[in-house]
Amino acid sequence: MNYDRILIRYGEISTKGRNRNKFVDKLRKSVRIALTPFPNIKIEASRDRMYVLLNGENGIEIIKKLKNIFGIQSFSPAIKVEREMESIKEASLTLVKSLYLEGQTFKVTAKRSDKTFDLNTDEINNAIGGHLLTNIAGIKVDVRNPDINLRVEVRKEAVYLSCETIKGAGGLPSESSGKAMLMLSGGIDSPVAGYMAMKRGLEIEAVHFFSPPFTSERAKEKVIDLSKKLAEMAGGSIKLHIVPFTDVQQAIREQVPENYTMTSTRRMMLRITDEIRKKQEGLAIITGESLGQVASQTLESMYAINEVTNTPILRPLISMDKTDIIKIASEIDTLEISNRPYEDCCTIFVPASPKTKPKREKVNQYESYFDFEPLIQEAVQEVETLVIKPDREPHSEFSELF
Ligand code: ATP
Ligand code: MG
Repeated sequence: MNYDRILIRYGEISTKGRNRNKFVDKLRKSVRIALTPFPNIKIEASRDRMYVLLNGENGIEIIKKLKNIFGIQSFSPAIKVEREMESIKEASLTLVKSLYLEGQTFKVTAKRSDKTFDLNTDEINNAIGGHLLTNIAGIKVDVRNPDINLRVEVRKEAVYLSCETIKGAGGLPSESSGKAMLMLSGGIDSPVAGYMAMKRGLEIEAVHFFSPPFTSERAKEKVIDLSKKLAEMAGGSIKLHIVPFTDVQQAIREQVPENYTMTSTRRMMLRITDEIRKKQEGLAIITGESLGQVASQTLESMYAINEVTNTPILRPLISMDKTDIIKIASEIDTLEISNRPYEDCCTIFVPASPKTKPKREKVNQYESYFDFEPLIQEAVQEVETLVIKPDREPHSEFSELF
């Protein structure tokens, strides 16, 4: 069957009242970017739905792309027909015949958004249903659990026929919720946290702490590869800020008692990320923390670490079990990269027994003997910012200017 358009349903976006136009524009932009390889398509968007007109482009490939776009609740490949019963019956027959397998059942579900149409929904259902029953040998009606559900939507401009409803990625359109910095390690959790934040419409920039020579180029490559996956989900590119963290870590090791180094390391990371956030004009920080997963993620730890900033810290995985996080990592195709064995800057100086219940007063006291601020500023100064695209070598933020 040759579908000539794909009908896209917005889902949650349609509850956004007066902001709706803004959301529809963002979604249209995401669809446009994802479908760049198909130059003949045309996008028509109205307040409550969107159509991609295929104009001869490959529907199957386009469906694959649409599945990954945030802000789409579901979509259906559809055929447009004139508002005239004979044409509707004929097109319905061709469509159902193209899908029908011996012994299958069907039902017709008509919907009228335009009540001026001559027939009501029951009458439409009966007319089309009767036409299919007389013209397809062996087909039967099953209104509860049909194999084929033919949807007939009567709208002002035309009638649309479709048989399939394909689930979309859900969430809100890309970049409709503002910008946040994602603290991206090479682990399993933080890329998943980034995915979940993007799904809610956040634009993200990744921040990675790197401690050469204790962490290798291979560890950096791993983070670049994870960022490529995130760039793909973002529908274009993302920025990755790589922070040289060795000097700060050495200072912590010299100044802070061993069982508090982990707490202090996290506090310094957060301070630096917050500085980068200010420069980049983001409004939040995202981490892959999950309550109780490791020593740094107890409530006491979070309380001690979070003290250094009052910027909102979003923790999309906070209440999730590791097995569920791994499941998502596998679905979004980051698991394999995260499982590569290279060391992370936090694993190289891991204390034998990190405090699981650190105290704010104590960590403040230990940090007060040394001025970390100049080292923090220096790290921020020396950040290397890369623009990451899914299928290209990363390049420095400034190389595009020349
Ligand atoms: P992940 O799987 O994301 O590495 P984790 O279970 O290993 O998480 P931690 O090592 O305690 O947990 O890290 C908690 C969070 O701190 C991470 O999810 C990430 O957001 C941030 N983080 C840890 N290490 C780094 C790093 N080297 N660079 C940037 N962020 C980091
Ligand atoms: Mg980690």
